[in-house]
Amino acid sequence: MASYAISVMEGDGVGKEVTRSALEILGSVSSASGVSLDFTPAPAGDAVLAGTGEALPQQSLSVIRGSDACLKGPVGETAAAVIVKLRQVLDLYANIRPAKSMPGVPCLRPDIDFVIVRENTEDLYRGLEFEVADGVVAMRVTTTKACARIADRAFRLAMGRKAKKVVAVHKANVMRKSCGLFSSACREAAARYPAVSFSEMYVDAAAMNLIRSPESFDVIVTTNMFGDILSDEAAQLVGGLGIAPSANLGDKFAIFEPVHGSAPDIAGKGIANPVGISLSACMMLEWLGESREDRKCGDAASALRAAIERAVQKGAKTPDLGGSLTTEKMTREIVAELRR
Ligand code: ATP
Repeated sequence: MASYAISVMEGDGVGKEVTRSALEILGSVSSASGVSLDFTPAPAGDAVLAGTGEALPQQSLSVIRGSDACLKGPVGETAAAVIVKLRQVLDLYANIRPAKSMPGVPCLRPDIDFVIVRENTEDLYRGLEFEVADGVVAMRVTTTKACARIADRAFRLAMGRKAKKVVAVHKANVMRKSCGLFSSACREAAARYPAVSFSEMYVDAAAMNLIRSPESFDVIVTTNMFGDILSDEAAQLVGGLGIAPSANLGDKFAIFEPVHGSAPDIAGKGIANPVGISLSACMMLEWLGESREDRKCGDAASALRAAIERAVQKGAKTPDLGGSLTTEKMTREIVAELRR
Protein backbone atom coordinates (compact mmCIF):
# COMPACT_ATOMS: atom_id res chain seq x y z
CA MET A 1 0.00 0.00 0.00
CA ALA A 2 1.34 3.45 -0.95
CA SER A 3 2.33 5.47 2.09
CA TYR A 4 2.95 9.21 2.27
CA ALA A 5 4.70 11.26 4.95
CA ILE A 6 2.68 14.43 5.52
CA SER A 7 4.12 17.27 7.58
CA VAL A 8 1.41 19.19 9.41
CA MET A 9 1.58 22.79 10.57
CA GLU A 10 -1.36 23.74 12.78
CA GLY A 11 -0.59 27.44 12.78
CA ASP A 12 -2.40 29.94 14.99
CA GLY A 13 -5.94 31.00 15.87
CA VAL A 14 -8.49 28.95 13.94
CA GLY A 15 -5.56 27.11 12.37
CA LYS A 16 -5.49 24.64 15.24
CA GLU A 17 -9.23 24.02 15.03
CA VAL A 18 -9.44 23.48 11.27
CA THR A 19 -6.23 21.42 11.12
CA ARG A 20 -7.58 19.04 13.78
CA SER A 21 -10.68 18.69 11.66
CA ALA A 22 -8.70 18.05 8.46
CA LEU A 23 -6.65 15.33 10.15
CA GLU A 24 -9.80 13.59 11.33
CA ILE A 25 -11.26 13.78 7.83
CA LEU A 26 -8.01 12.57 6.23
CA GLY A 27 -7.91 9.66 8.72
CA SER A 28 -11.29 8.61 7.42
CA VAL A 29 -10.22 9.08 3.78
CA SER A 30 -7.19 6.94 4.49
CA SER A 31 -9.18 4.03 5.96
CA ALA A 32 -11.69 4.14 3.11
CA SER A 33 -9.17 4.45 0.25
CA GLY A 34 -6.20 2.38 1.36
CA VAL A 35 -3.90 5.39 0.95
CA SER A 36 -1.69 5.47 4.03
CA LEU A 37 -0.93 8.94 5.40
CA ASP A 38 1.65 9.33 8.12
CA PHE A 39 1.37 12.73 9.85
CA THR A 40 4.28 14.50 11.56
CA PRO A 41 3.86 17.88 13.29
CA ALA A 42 5.94 20.81 12.01
CA PRO A 43 5.12 23.59 14.50
CA ALA A 44 5.48 27.20 13.37
CA GLY A 45 3.79 30.55 13.83
CA ASP A 46 3.09 33.16 16.51
CA ALA A 47 2.77 30.72 19.42
CA VAL A 48 5.99 28.95 18.41
CA LEU A 49 7.81 32.28 18.17
CA ALA A 50 6.63 33.18 21.66
CA GLY A 51 7.76 29.80 23.01
CA THR A 52 11.05 29.28 21.18
CA GLY A 53 12.12 32.67 19.81
CA GLU A 54 11.76 31.41 16.23
CA ALA A 55 8.60 31.49 14.09
CA LEU A 56 9.87 28.67 11.86
CA PRO A 57 12.32 26.50 13.82
CA GLN A 58 14.97 24.54 11.91
CA GLN A 59 13.47 21.29 13.22
CA SER A 60 10.11 22.09 11.61
CA LEU A 61 11.78 23.04 8.36
CA SER A 62 13.61 19.67 8.39
CA VAL A 63 10.33 17.80 8.99
CA ILE A 64 8.74 19.68 6.07
CA ARG A 65 11.72 19.04 3.78
CA GLY A 66 11.66 15.34 4.67
CA SER A 67 7.95 14.90 3.93
CA ASP A 68 6.10 14.12 0.70
CA ALA A 69 3.82 17.14 1.16
CA CYS A 70 2.81 19.63 3.83
CA LEU A 71 -0.68 20.47 5.07
CA LYS A 72 -0.67 23.87 6.70
CA GLY A 73 -3.10 25.86 8.81
CA PRO A 74 -2.92 29.68 8.77
CA VAL A 75 -0.41 31.48 10.97
CA GLY A 76 -1.02 34.91 12.49
CA GLU A 77 1.35 37.85 12.57
CA THR A 78 4.36 35.70 11.61
CA ALA A 79 3.02 34.83 8.14
CA ALA A 80 5.98 36.55 6.45
CA ALA A 81 8.48 34.59 8.54
CA VAL A 82 6.66 31.32 7.91
CA ILE A 83 4.78 30.91 4.65
CA VAL A 84 6.45 33.67 2.66
CA LYS A 85 9.81 32.24 3.74
CA LEU A 86 8.77 28.63 2.97
CA ARG A 87 7.63 29.65 -0.51
CA GLN A 88 11.04 31.16 -1.17
CA VAL A 89 13.22 28.55 0.56
CA LEU A 90 11.40 25.60 -1.05
CA ASP A 91 10.91 27.45 -4.33
CA LEU A 92 7.14 26.94 -4.31
CA TYR A 93 6.68 29.32 -7.18
CA ALA A 94 3.05 28.69 -8.12
CA ASN A 95 0.14 29.54 -5.87
CA ILE A 96 -2.97 27.83 -7.20
CA ARG A 97 -6.28 29.18 -5.96
CA PRO A 98 -9.44 27.68 -7.45
CA ALA A 99 -12.79 29.48 -7.22
CA LYS A 100 -15.75 27.25 -7.97
CA SER A 101 -19.43 27.58 -7.12
CA MET A 102 -20.56 24.83 -4.79
CA PRO A 103 -24.21 23.73 -4.84
CA GLY A 104 -25.86 24.74 -1.57
CA VAL A 105 -23.45 27.62 -0.89
CA PRO A 106 -24.79 31.13 -1.47
CA CYS A 107 -22.69 32.67 -4.25
CA LEU A 108 -22.87 35.28 -7.00
CA ARG A 109 -23.63 32.77 -9.79
CA PRO A 110 -23.89 28.97 -9.90
CA ASP A 111 -21.52 28.61 -12.89
CA ILE A 112 -18.27 30.11 -11.57
CA ASP A 113 -15.26 27.86 -12.18
CA PHE A 114 -11.86 29.47 -12.56
CA VAL A 115 -8.38 29.15 -11.10
CA ILE A 116 -5.94 31.89 -10.15
CA VAL A 117 -2.31 30.98 -10.82
CA ARG A 118 -0.31 33.45 -8.79
CA GLU A 119 3.46 33.91 -8.93
CA ASN A 120 4.58 33.14 -5.41
CA THR A 121 8.21 34.11 -4.90
CA GLU A 122 8.87 37.68 -5.95
CA ASP A 123 7.22 41.04 -6.69
CA LEU A 124 6.74 43.51 -3.81
CA TYR A 125 6.41 40.54 -1.42
CA ARG A 126 10.17 40.05 -1.41
CA GLY A 127 9.95 42.64 1.39
CA LEU A 128 12.74 44.82 0.02
CA GLU A 129 11.80 48.08 1.66
CA PHE A 130 14.27 50.82 2.41
CA GLU A 131 13.98 53.99 4.40
CA VAL A 132 15.08 57.01 2.43
CA ALA A 133 15.29 60.68 3.33
CA ASP A 134 11.61 61.40 2.84
CA GLY A 135 9.89 58.06 3.33
CA VAL A 136 10.29 54.50 2.11
CA VAL A 137 11.15 52.87 -1.22
CA ALA A 138 9.89 49.34 -1.93
CA MET A 139 11.48 47.22 -4.66
CA ARG A 140 9.40 45.10 -7.01
CA VAL A 141 11.39 42.08 -8.14
CA THR A 142 10.44 40.50 -11.50
CA THR A 143 12.74 37.97 -13.16
CA THR A 144 12.53 36.35 -16.58
CA LYS A 145 12.78 32.87 -15.02
CA ALA A 146 9.90 33.41 -12.57
CA CYS A 147 7.66 34.92 -15.25
CA ALA A 148 8.41 32.13 -17.72
CA ARG A 149 7.72 29.28 -15.31
CA ILE A 150 4.51 30.71 -13.86
CA ALA A 151 3.21 31.39 -17.38
CA ASP A 152 4.07 27.83 -18.39
CA ARG A 153 2.36 26.42 -15.28
CA ALA A 154 -0.83 28.36 -16.12
CA PHE A 155 -0.93 27.09 -19.70
CA ARG A 156 -0.27 23.50 -18.60
CA LEU A 157 -3.15 23.80 -16.15
CA ALA A 158 -5.42 25.29 -18.83
CA MET A 159 -4.62 22.36 -21.16
CA GLY A 160 -6.28 20.03 -18.65
CA ARG A 161 -9.44 22.13 -18.39
CA LYS A 162 -12.54 22.26 -20.57
CA ALA A 163 -12.52 25.94 -21.50
CA LYS A 164 -8.74 26.14 -22.16
CA LYS A 165 -8.51 29.92 -21.67
CA VAL A 166 -5.72 31.90 -20.02
CA VAL A 167 -5.90 35.57 -19.18
CA ALA A 168 -2.71 37.29 -18.03
CA VAL A 169 -3.53 39.99 -15.46
CA HIS A 170 -1.05 42.83 -14.97
CA LYS A 171 -0.64 46.58 -15.16
CA ALA A 172 1.89 46.90 -17.97
CA ASN A 173 0.56 50.30 -19.02
CA VAL A 174 1.97 51.77 -15.79
CA MET A 175 4.66 49.32 -14.63
CA ARG A 176 6.10 49.09 -18.11
CA LYS A 177 9.24 47.16 -17.30
CA SER A 178 8.18 44.72 -14.56
CA CYS A 179 4.66 44.00 -15.79
CA GLY A 180 5.99 44.34 -19.34
CA LEU A 181 8.34 41.42 -18.70
CA PHE A 182 5.51 39.37 -17.19
CA SER A 183 3.28 40.13 -20.18
CA SER A 184 5.99 39.12 -22.71
CA ALA A 185 6.59 35.83 -20.87
CA CYS A 186 2.86 35.06 -21.02
CA ARG A 187 2.75 35.86 -24.75
CA GLU A 188 5.72 33.58 -25.36
CA ALA A 189 4.03 30.77 -23.44
CA ALA A 190 0.81 31.38 -25.39
CA ALA A 191 2.70 30.77 -28.63
CA ARG A 192 3.76 27.33 -27.33
CA TYR A 193 0.18 26.34 -26.45
CA PRO A 194 -1.91 27.12 -29.55
CA ALA A 195 -4.82 25.04 -28.21
CA VAL A 196 -5.28 27.54 -25.37
CA SER A 197 -6.94 30.87 -26.09
CA PHE A 198 -5.01 33.78 -24.58
CA SER A 199 -5.86 37.34 -23.61
CA GLU A 200 -4.51 40.05 -21.32
CA MET A 201 -6.29 42.34 -18.86
CA TYR A 202 -5.21 45.17 -16.60
CA VAL A 203 -5.63 44.33 -12.94
CA ASP A 204 -8.19 47.06 -12.26
CA ALA A 205 -10.36 45.79 -15.13
CA ALA A 206 -9.91 42.23 -13.85
CA ALA A 207 -11.14 43.24 -10.38
CA MET A 208 -14.24 44.72 -12.01
CA ASN A 209 -14.85 41.85 -14.45
CA LEU A 210 -14.60 39.27 -11.67
CA ILE A 211 -17.73 40.86 -10.21
CA ARG A 212 -19.38 41.61 -13.54
CA SER A 213 -18.88 38.28 -15.32
CA PRO A 214 -17.00 35.76 -13.14
CA GLU A 215 -18.27 32.90 -15.29
CA SER A 216 -16.20 34.18 -18.23
CA PHE A 217 -12.87 33.37 -16.51
CA ASP A 218 -11.02 30.05 -16.74
CA VAL A 219 -7.33 30.42 -15.77
CA ILE A 220 -6.00 33.75 -14.51
CA VAL A 221 -2.22 34.05 -14.36
CA THR A 222 -0.86 37.00 -12.43
CA THR A 223 1.92 38.40 -10.28
CA ASN A 224 2.24 37.90 -6.53
CA MET A 225 0.48 40.88 -4.98
CA PHE A 226 -2.26 41.16 -7.62
CA GLY A 227 -2.93 37.44 -7.17
CA ASP A 228 -3.15 37.81 -3.41
CA ILE A 229 -5.76 40.53 -3.69
CA LEU A 230 -7.80 39.02 -6.55
CA SER A 231 -7.95 35.62 -4.87
CA ASP A 232 -9.65 37.01 -1.76
CA GLU A 233 -12.16 38.66 -4.09
CA ALA A 234 -12.55 35.35 -5.94
CA ALA A 235 -13.13 33.47 -2.66
CA GLN A 236 -15.93 35.86 -1.76
CA LEU A 237 -17.61 35.33 -5.14
CA VAL A 238 -18.14 31.66 -4.37
CA GLY A 239 -19.08 31.74 -0.70
CA GLY A 240 -16.25 33.28 1.30
CA LEU A 241 -12.85 32.61 2.80
CA GLY A 242 -14.09 29.72 4.92
CA ILE A 243 -14.33 27.41 1.90
CA ALA A 244 -11.38 28.61 -0.22
CA PRO A 245 -8.46 26.18 -0.73
CA SER A 246 -4.98 26.75 -2.13
CA ALA A 247 -1.76 25.00 -3.12
CA ASN A 248 1.80 26.30 -3.17
CA LEU A 249 3.52 24.23 -5.85
CA GLY A 250 7.15 23.81 -6.75
CA ASP A 251 8.54 21.29 -9.21
CA LYS A 252 8.98 18.55 -6.59
CA PHE A 253 7.30 19.70 -3.37
CA ALA A 254 4.08 21.40 -2.35
CA ILE A 255 2.32 22.97 0.62
CA PHE A 256 -1.46 23.03 0.84
CA GLU A 257 -3.34 25.57 2.98
CA PRO A 258 -6.67 27.36 3.20
CA VAL A 259 -6.72 30.88 1.75
CA HIS A 260 -8.00 32.34 5.02
CA GLY A 261 -5.88 33.73 7.84
CA SER A 262 -5.89 32.89 11.55
CA ALA A 263 -9.27 34.69 11.99
CA PRO A 264 -8.63 36.03 15.50
CA ASP A 265 -12.25 37.29 15.69
CA ILE A 266 -13.62 33.73 15.81
CA ALA A 267 -10.61 31.78 17.13
CA GLY A 268 -11.41 29.55 20.12
CA LYS A 269 -15.16 29.68 19.50
CA GLY A 270 -15.23 26.35 17.69
CA ILE A 271 -17.13 27.74 14.70
CA ALA A 272 -14.42 28.01 12.03
CA ASN A 273 -15.34 26.41 8.73
CA PRO A 274 -13.14 23.37 8.05
CA VAL A 275 -14.09 23.21 4.35
CA GLY A 276 -11.24 25.48 3.16
CA ILE A 277 -8.55 23.30 4.69
CA SER A 278 -10.41 20.09 3.72
CA LEU A 279 -10.53 21.16 0.07
CA SER A 280 -6.81 22.02 0.40
CA ALA A 281 -6.27 18.46 1.66
CA CYS A 282 -8.18 17.32 -1.39
CA MET A 283 -5.79 19.29 -3.64
CA MET A 284 -2.92 17.61 -1.76
CA LEU A 285 -4.27 14.14 -2.57
CA GLU A 286 -4.79 15.17 -6.21
CA TRP A 287 -1.22 16.46 -6.42
CA LEU A 288 0.20 13.31 -4.80
CA GLY A 289 -1.88 11.24 -7.20
CA GLU A 290 -0.51 13.10 -10.23
CA SER A 291 3.10 13.52 -9.14
CA ARG A 292 3.46 9.93 -7.85
CA GLU A 293 1.23 8.48 -10.57
CA ASP A 294 -0.90 6.90 -7.85
CA ARG A 295 -4.47 6.39 -8.99
CA LYS A 296 -5.63 5.47 -5.50
CA CYS A 297 -4.67 8.93 -4.30
CA GLY A 298 -6.58 10.56 -7.15
CA ASP A 299 -9.63 8.45 -6.31
CA ALA A 300 -9.31 9.36 -2.62
CA ALA A 301 -9.29 13.05 -3.60
CA SER A 302 -12.44 12.62 -5.70
CA ALA A 303 -14.18 10.77 -2.85
CA LEU A 304 -13.26 13.52 -0.40
CA ARG A 305 -14.42 16.30 -2.71
CA ALA A 306 -17.71 14.53 -3.32
CA ALA A 307 -18.24 13.98 0.43
CA ILE A 308 -17.64 17.67 1.21
CA GLU A 309 -20.00 18.75 -1.57
CA ARG A 310 -22.72 16.30 -0.48
CA ALA A 311 -22.48 17.41 3.14
CA VAL A 312 -22.80 21.09 2.19
CA GLN A 313 -25.59 20.44 -0.29
CA LYS A 314 -27.55 18.63 2.42
CA GLY A 315 -27.35 21.79 4.54
CA ALA A 316 -24.35 21.12 6.78
CA LYS A 317 -22.92 24.60 7.27
CA THR A 318 -20.95 26.64 9.77
CA PRO A 319 -22.11 30.20 10.63
CA ASP A 320 -20.01 31.87 7.90
CA LEU A 321 -22.23 30.10 5.33
CA GLY A 322 -25.45 30.92 7.21
CA GLY A 323 -25.58 27.65 9.15
CA SER A 324 -25.22 26.87 12.83
CA LEU A 325 -22.84 23.89 12.97
CA THR A 326 -19.66 23.95 15.02
CA THR A 327 -16.35 22.96 13.43
CA GLU A 328 -16.66 19.61 15.17
CA LYS A 329 -20.18 18.90 13.93
CA MET A 330 -19.28 19.99 10.39
CA THR A 331 -16.34 17.60 10.51
CA ARG A 332 -18.62 14.76 11.60
CA GLU A 333 -20.99 15.48 8.70
CA ILE A 334 -18.13 15.24 6.19
CA VAL A 335 -16.82 12.04 7.81
CA ALA A 336 -20.35 10.57 7.73
CA GLU A 337 -20.59 11.31 3.99
CA LEU A 338 -17.21 9.69 3.44
CA ARG A 339 -18.43 6.51 5.11
CA ARG A 340 -21.62 6.44 3.05
P1 ATP B 1 -4.69 37.50 7.32
O1 ATP B 1 -4.12 38.86 7.17
O2 ATP B 1 -3.82 36.54 8.06
O3 ATP B 1 -5.24 36.93 6.04
P2 ATP B 1 -7.24 38.50 8.18
O4 ATP B 1 -7.77 38.81 9.57
O5 ATP B 1 -7.12 39.59 7.20
O6 ATP B 1 -5.90 37.65 8.33
P3 ATP B 1 -8.78 36.17 8.06
O7 ATP B 1 -8.09 35.72 9.29
O8 ATP B 1 -8.81 35.23 6.94
O9 ATP B 1 -8.17 37.46 7.49
O10 ATP B 1 -10.25 36.60 8.43
C1 ATP B 1 -11.08 37.39 7.56
C2 ATP B 1 -12.55 37.14 7.91
O11 ATP B 1 -12.92 35.84 7.44
C3 ATP B 1 -12.82 37.16 9.40
O12 ATP B 1 -14.07 37.76 9.65
C4 ATP B 1 -12.85 35.71 9.78
O13 ATP B 1 -13.67 35.41 10.87
C5 ATP B 1 -13.40 35.05 8.50
N1 ATP B 1 -12.86 33.69 8.38
C6 ATP B 1 -11.59 33.36 8.07
N2 ATP B 1 -11.43 32.04 8.08
C7 ATP B 1 -12.62 31.50 8.40
C8 ATP B 1 -13.11 30.16 8.56
N3 ATP B 1 -12.32 29.09 8.40
N4 ATP B 1 -14.39 30.00 8.91
C9 ATP B 1 -15.20 31.05 9.08
N5 ATP B 1 -14.83 32.34 8.93
C10 ATP B 1 -13.53 32.56 8.59
